[in-house]
Amino acid sequence: MPLQMNLFSLKMRASKKVGNIDHHISGAEKIVHLENAASDAKILIERALKHDKGQPDFINLKVEAVRPEEIIYIEALPVSTIKTQTPQEGQQAIFSLLEKIGIKNSDKILALFKKTYAMRGAMLLDVDTLERLEPNQNRGIRATYMDSEDDCSQNCKNHFKEALVLASKVVSAPHIIGEICMSDDPDYVTGYVAAPQIGYVRITTLKPLHCPDGGRIFLYRGPHKDKEHCIDYLEKQKVLVRHVPGLPQTSCKNPLAEIETALQKLKDEHLYRKCTPISSAQNALVESKGQEMILLASNNYLGLADDKRLKEAASKAIEKFGTGTGGSRLVTGNLILHETLEKELAHFKDMPSALLFNTGYTANLGTISALCGQEDVIFSDELNHASIIDGCRLSRAQTIVYRHNDMRDLEEKIRQTSFNKGLIVSDAVFSMDGDIADLPGIVRLAKKYGLFSMLDEAHALGVIGKKGRGITEYFNGSHKPDIYMGTLSKALGSEGGFVCASTILIDYLRNKARSFIFSTSMAPASAAAALCALDILEKEPSLVRQLQDNTTYFCHCLEQLSIKVRTPSAIVPIMLYDEKFALKADTYLKENGLFISAIRYPTVRRSSARLRAAIMATHTKDDLKKAACLIANAIK
Ligand code: PMP
Repeated sequence: MPLQMNLFSLKMRASKKVGNIDHHISGAEKIVHLENAASDAKILIERALKHDKGQPDFINLKVEAVRPEEIIYIEALPVSTIKTQTPQEGQQAIFSLLEKIGIKNSDKILALFKKTYAMRGAMLLDVDTLERLEPNQNRGIRATYMDSEDDCSQNCKNHFKEALVLASKVVSAPHIIGEICMSDDPDYVTGYVAAPQIGYVRITTLKPLHCPDGGRIFLYRGPHKDKEHCIDYLEKQKVLVRHVPGLPQTSCKNPLAEIETALQKLKDEHLYRKCTPISSAQNALVESKGQEMILLASNNYLGLADDKRLKEAASKAIEKFGTGTGGSRLVTGNLILHETLEKELAHFKDMPSALLFNTGYTANLGTISALCGQEDVIFSDELNHASIIDGCRLSRAQTIVYRHNDMRDLEEKIRQTSFNKGLIVSDAVFSMDGDIADLPGIVRLAKKYGLFSMLDEAHALGVIGKKGRGITEYFNGSHKPDIYMGTLSKALGSEGGFVCASTILIDYLRNKARSFIFSTSMAPASAAAALCALDILEKEPSLVRQLQDNTTYFCHCLEQLSIKVRTPSAIVPIMLYDEKFALKADTYLKENGLFISAIRYPTVRRSSARLRAAIMATHTKDDLKKAACLIANAIK
């Protein structure tokens, strides 16, 4: 670029006020020629106005003349890529890169990374003392006034180029020995470590998809009296970066080979999964591969999936309404059956209103993502079911995970967080451990801090409480969350999901929950079977007692065989820890006539593999005793 050029710096920042807090929406900057300044300014404003994160209500555009003698020119860092498949692998890559640039306490540095998520700029960190050197810790340091030399006349947005330009400037600052960055774009999981010794190293997966967390740390090593000089350079020195390459080619030549490698890795780690065919109805005994087996893995807790009355109700519904509904509830798929079932569910849960979804999974997805948006916060138990986790991700809300059923940790986390609107969400009965959420604690904290509370009763309904009404009945009826979520697919022997809540909340979900709006409604047979199951539960609470007695008996059988277990629900985890051992036990048991599942990562944490026994009201004492003996043989 000839030195006599007339240059201008354009800096755009866009934000949106939520309550009293300014949320960052978009930011960009360019150094441009005079003749492009006006059109580039327009492009930056348009970019802000149409941003995925929402429409800003404040856009600041700063246009400044830049004298050519103020500019320094630097070379772009060389680029390389480390391919990682999980955030854990990404973190390992960061550790080894930091080690290469002579940083020893990288685990402590990464632990500090979370603090950058809420910051506008970057953390400036003394890598040896871990002291933070930013004068304002909320704002952080903003590296600005830089561009790619050959981009002065181009105006396309390119995440990679912008990041490389920024990193090249940052690591050329006095006493900065490197930078770690994870993008806060929920759809962009790639991050990088940059340093003069290693260049700009892209790490392809640093966080889960749809996660809005992101931030950057500038790594400082030097006397603190020089930090002003360093900050001045980062924030004010005009820099043009030479020879910025295009995005490196990362597409592999044979994408199937990558998939095969991933599958092989699952097999090597004893985490590969396959389905076992069953050729009979779900009940205490099933037929699989020509063999009769005791089924100790089904969530058909009350045996209703194979109940004559449910089958008849489903057949009648098919006769009358046919097999499918041909549309979503809001279009042509709203049968009288759906409305009746919603009324009965609301009555069963003693709540004003209910809404059906096609599965429990989509009930969680649709409800959580409709209730919370990116300005909100969700407090989620660390052992919550995957469908809750996915709902949190889809909502783009800040998700804060609290220690399992730990109300002190939950309260501490709530107090440390400022939020607009928020939700506490928990499994009622934890699906892999069988223990029960501290409902009184959750309801108390939700009320105290003005949060919504939501309990997933997938494994509670029909199982806990004297009459199988779930967690509120279990705690003697006095504590109610704002929202109960449940499934029709477990104790109710059918298929589908639902939520019960106030009329306003249900009305809102009917209008906003995308998994409700954009999916064909539940098949008539499923709705009719669930209605029949509710009727049976109302009339025959003895079925629930039978399930609870069976669970006590099974635990007693195991204890007599020196296997210590406890459960307040119908889920009995038998901890084996090691994945390989769990798989071996699973195979042995299936070969010997017991159908039980070895549960491994990612359903549970690594090295916490277990056999998950699920008890049914229709098991005989003989079935349960036999199953306990087989388990004892398998794991001894
Ligand atoms: N929540 C929990 C706690 C579950 O265990 C499950 C099913 N495993 C679901 C939600 C999803 O329910 P569904 O099977 O009806 O999709």
